[in-house]
Amino acid sequence: MTEHHRFRGLATKAIHAGFRPDAATGAVNAPIYASSTFAQDGVGGLRGGYEYARTGNPTRAALEASLAAVEEAEYGRAFASGMAATDCALRAVLRPGDHVVIPDDAYGGTFRLIDKVFTQWGITYTAVSLADLDEVRAAITPQTKLIWVETPTNPLLSIADIAGIAQIASTSAIKLLVDNTFASPALQQPLTLGADIVLHSTTKYIGGHSDVVGGALLTSDEELDTAFAFLQNGAGAVAGPFDAYLTMRGLKTLALRMRQHSENATLVADFLANHPAISSVLYPGLPSHPGHEVAAKQMSAFGGMVSVRMAGGPDAARKLCASTEIFILAESLGGVESLIEHPGAMTHASTAGSQLEVPDDLVRLSVGIEDSTDLLADLEQALG
Ligand SMILES: *Cc1c(COP(=O)(O)O)cnc(C)c1O
Repeated sequence: MTEHHRFRGLATKAIHAGFRPDAATGAVNAPIYASSTFAQDGVGGLRGGYEYARTGNPTRAALEASLAAVEEAEYGRAFASGMAATDCALRAVLRPGDHVVIPDDAYGGTFRLIDKVFTQWGITYTAVSLADLDEVRAAITPQTKLIWVETPTNPLLSIADIAGIAQIASTSAIKLLVDNTFASPALQQPLTLGADIVLHSTTKYIGGHSDVVGGALLTSDEELDTAFAFLQNGAGAVAGPFDAYLTMRGLKTLALRMRQHSENATLVADFLANHPAISSVLYPGLPSHPGHEVAAKQMSAFGGMVSVRMAGGPDAARKLCASTEIFILAESLGGVESLIEHPGAMTHASTAGSQLEVPDDLVRLSVGIEDSTDLLADLEQALG
């Protein structure tokens, strides 16, 4: 039995999988291999399997192995950003004439790439509410090759039943990709529910400290991984060794952080649900959320993202974003620090005028791991 098989729990894998103490020095962390090329012992005589760092770099390989381990995948590929991973996945699976089903509140950048770029290369798409399996079935055409799932979605926190969609996809030989950025593997492991591919913006919870941009694709399908590896090397949007190191450092505390994000977000959601300035709270942990039952089935906790709609409309939304002191007004999410933003004007501005346009009275919170009493007091003063 290899050492790998003793790493059963996610927290253990996040800390140990991918790199064991260096045989030469005993270093417990993967070194940052700042080397673009690797010496050969005679032509083609590779020492550690590495020749050129776009094709492979040991620091990146360590990150790829640890990400594969935490997503229960056979293979992992790390990219320069979540969007680079998105681009690679779309090009690996789709050909001109193919059709993809996407969520009607997909991440703005994903929608922009498909709508503005891939349609120019003969790809068509249908955006539907993935919370409704009948809508998913109705969107499938003979040309459909891919169903693209986010759950929870960004920024409306709607929930898709991964196992239910996997069943629909497999009966039509359609690949199922789950963008697992919001939940992270600590809360939800889509490959174990029947997905073919997991995508991450590791910029968010996996990196966890708002100090690095990255992306990843994980799969147990060898053919898909071969296509990802070919494009990763052929198009070159790879994670650099410094970024890979930072991402691995973040991953080691993922399980611990996700527990605290979820605990704090639950307290924030409960507080806001009872505040008169808020007309509705979108958080899958609330029993009133339409996706609560499915979320409780496929997630071990409900994560750190909470969105709210303001009773006072768009002006109240902008005012709240400008009035918090601990919650920092900024795009992005998933770091240790709490962030607040107005999706309609910020992260999701590219969806304006489209089917994916988000409501103007919406505020999105990325609840961090500060003391929850401080977070609640900050929201109270900002709303007061
Ligand atoms: C941020 C994000 C992406 C894009 O990732 P980048 O690292 O910013 O390129 C994709 N999907 C989701 C759900 C995201 O939040």
